[in-house]
Amino acid sequence: MTRKFIAGACALVLAALAGPALAEPKVAPTPRAVVADNPRDKDHPADMAAFQVDIQGSKVNAILYTAAGAGPHPTLLFLHGFPGNETNIDLLQAVRRAGWNAMRINYRGSWGSQGKFSYGNARVDAAAAVAWLADPANAAKYRVDASRIVVAGHSLGGFMTASAAAADPRVAGAVLIDAADIGARKATIVDAASRQAAIDRLRPDTPPLVATPEGLVAELERDGDQLRLAPLLAKLGQRPALVIGAELALGPANRKVVEAARAAGASAVTETYLPTDHSFSDARIALESEVIRWLGQFDPKSAPRPPLPLTAAYDPSNIFARIIRGEAPAYKVYEDKDVLAFMDRAPMEPGHVLVISKTSKARNILDIDPADLAKVMAVVQKVGRAEVQALGLEGFMVLQNNGVGQSVPHLHMHVIPRVAGKPAYLAENAAADPKDLEATAAKIRAAMK
Ligand code: AMP
Repeated sequence: MTRKFIAGACALVLAALAGPALAEPKVAPTPRAVVADNPRDKDHPADMAAFQVDIQGSKVNAILYTAAGAGPHPTLLFLHGFPGNETNIDLLQAVRRAGWNAMRINYRGSWGSQGKFSYGNARVDAAAAVAWLADPANAAKYRVDASRIVVAGHSLGGFMTASAAAADPRVAGAVLIDAADIGARKATIVDAASRQAAIDRLRPDTPPLVATPEGLVAELERDGDQLRLAPLLAKLGQRPALVIGAELALGPANRKVVEAARAAGASAVTETYLPTDHSFSDARIALESEVIRWLGQFDPKSAPRPPLPLTAAYDPSNIFARIIRGEAPAYKVYEDKDVLAFMDRAPMEPGHVLVISKTSKARNILDIDPADLAKVMAVVQKVGRAEVQALGLEGFMVLQNNGVGQSVPHLHMHVIPRVAGKPAYLAENAAADPKDLEATAAKIRAAMK
């Protein structure tokens, strides 16, 4: 983490030296929900409901991870692949931490759901799951915002996602993760040998399904023309879709699907391709980050903050300027005529202190006069010593964000206790109880020399 921070700082300095061409941040930030839990909401905690949805007389197993908070919440319906060995539950949990409900179903005839599995049935199941979420009684019970239902799916589930979104305008958007163009396989069956090869390819995946490979290949031969991905994706029209392809699997095919869908009317498709396999085995964090960033458009609360510009006029109404002027409260641990140190209201660890210059109007480290910076750093050192002594620390971290990752446009150094073995994430943390902040501030204050 620290290494990453140092690398980031070096990149920034190089970018600044190289001029505007390199000044744009190239790496999108990892959303907080990918790496950090939320505090428990005691009135409306995150929860999980397991139930069955009746689809044409068959009971289909469903799980709904409900988001914390009163809601109503935007809701992601997730549709698994063929047969669904890769469950993508990590993605659903991350999406839920971002403030979304996340529901998954097992299609009819899969993984213990009643009925028979077929491509056609799975399309009906996906549509029925959307209708279930949009049903006012279910939406009220599970705090679903029916105007913000997004469908996502992996592999076969990506196809089913396009199918459900095409069929139902209530679907606000679609996420296709290395989506399979099911119908395209029809063209590969040209004689008895290729037919048998298609059957043999499906056989290892059918044990969790109430289906035979022979039956599925027969369905493909019969209905393959209705199982093409691009025409379904095109039906989304202006509704947003995110296509995430795996370069080592269906990514190249996905590129062609997107091209065809755009030509046929899909005008809001975002594409991204990751250098990984069909299960995103080594790109889980990247996958979660891509999905959550894209979902931000439906929920401004979960959208990542744009970086502060590196160059701009100083804004005297920023919160730290107000603290300096005594217009806003702070739990102070140290103050002299030049520098102020106070508790971070949302600590990464208890004892997290911020150190700021009271006299400099620097927004970031590129702005500050080195003499002012030296005064700030001298207090950073004092605070570090005091934290070690007062809190019995084995170590601490000094960190400072410029532009990306920065939320307050007044230069500030973070002095953050570290706990051996505990990873540190650069994420927005939950606000601490003021009583705890004052108690810790008192300990550090007493240890300041
Ligand atoms: P950065 O993201 O590096 O700009 O850090 C800004 C820090 O300021 C965050 O860790 C916030 O939790 C903290 N912060 C924001 N407002 C206040 C405040 N009124 N009092 C104390 N800390 C604050």
